[in-house]
Amino acid sequence: MENKELGIYIHIPFCKHKCDYCDFVSFSDKQSCIEKYIEAVKKEINNYFQDEQFLQTYTVTTIYIGGGTPSYINSRYIFEIMKVLENNLKNNMVKMEDMEITIEVNPGTVNKEKLEQYRKAKINRLSIGLQSASNTILKQIGRIHTFEQFLETYKMAKEVGFKNINVDLMIGLPNQTIEDIKISLKEVIQLHPTHMSVYSLIVEEGTLIAQKIENGQLKEMDEILERNMYWYVKNTLELNGYTHYEISNFAKKGKESKHNQNCWKQKEYIGIGLAAHSYLNYVRYSNTLEIDQYIAQMNTLNEQVVKDILALVEEKDMLEKMDIKENLMCQIEKVYEIEEIQNIEDRKKEYILLGLRTIEGVSISKFKEKYIDNPIFLYRKELEKLVEEKLVIIDGDYIRLTNKGLDLANLVWEEFI
Ligand code: SF4
Repeated sequence: MENKELGIYIHIPFCKHKCDYCDFVSFSDKQSCIEKYIEAVKKEINNYFQDEQFLQTYTVTTIYIGGGTPSYINSRYIFEIMKVLENNLKNNMVKMEDMEITIEVNPGTVNKEKLEQYRKAKINRLSIGLQSASNTILKQIGRIHTFEQFLETYKMAKEVGFKNINVDLMIGLPNQTIEDIKISLKEVIQLHPTHMSVYSLIVEEGTLIAQKIENGQLKEMDEILERNMYWYVKNTLELNGYTHYEISNFAKKGKESKHNQNCWKQKEYIGIGLAAHSYLNYVRYSNTLEIDQYIAQMNTLNEQVVKDILALVEEKDMLEKMDIKENLMCQIEKVYEIEEIQNIEDRKKEYILLGLRTIEGVSISKFKEKYIDNPIFLYRKELEKLVEEKLVIIDGDYIRLTNKGLDLANLVWEEFI
């Protein structure tokens, strides 16, 4: 039986306060649902691992607990989730100790006891949301913490034994200056985190920050200044020993996030919890956005749904299987929303799209190994255009973004969507 790597993502959608720029599925007013939600999450995990076929097909190598703010809820819940995973993964080929297990934490919601409990639960990687070292900016974007609280969190994390720590920063924030970025980087670099993620603000419709920009309270960042910030970050982190390995991600040698890397390599993962996305057996599907519905659905969930997803894949003779497919779809759609059932052409295109997010790019030989075709011939038209526009370069075995392509990555994605 085939044995494939699998990542697990667990979504904890609770926060102490909603940040002004946030459009993630997270709530600051649903504390009364926490207990029931965690029970539903545990049921969803158990359901996947009850299925024999699933167990024999996959080996879990990474776990990522994200949100929301996982550190906001009682750490006992995180411990319980990890126990359920551990029980289910007992016969898995990779030991929990050897997996990359990450939890996202936000300063102002975490203390030493919580961090110690995460360690006991075998979590070995922390991702701390700082965003900026400027308290003025933190306040302006609705973060609940100060830079000093971040320092305290970082120090506690080290004390309890976390060696693998990511720090999140943001650029392109209203009123942010290159000087702010310089200070934020300097402050964080001197702590020597193993990983840094630096995201540009995207002003999403319906967020408080979008409203403030619309009514003139805040000014959206100038695009050129935002790009200057990006290049300043890239150069500074590279000079300080971080490898730029994905558009927004930098790591010390060997400390790249395995969980994210596996997603960019088109490996499979299951998303547990509200709004979580999964990619299993060439099917992309997601959970509901409604918390009450999620809790209700998980109470009626049965392992047949997992079987159905594993059976739901387009083959050459798909047309003949159409009836079967539609029946399966009806079953699955009672619980999950199917986003895409990939055929071989979809998979190839997506492989290029995901690979181009990485700085290394898409390896032509690996593409051939996986899909037999040569991507250079397969996507001759698209690649010719992108190379001519100097957005992409073909360099030995790799197709990768140029520096111009890093700034205009959206134009590159458009060619493969
Ligand atoms: S902490 Fe993260 S998930 Fe929660 S509101 Fe802020 S940005 Fe959103």
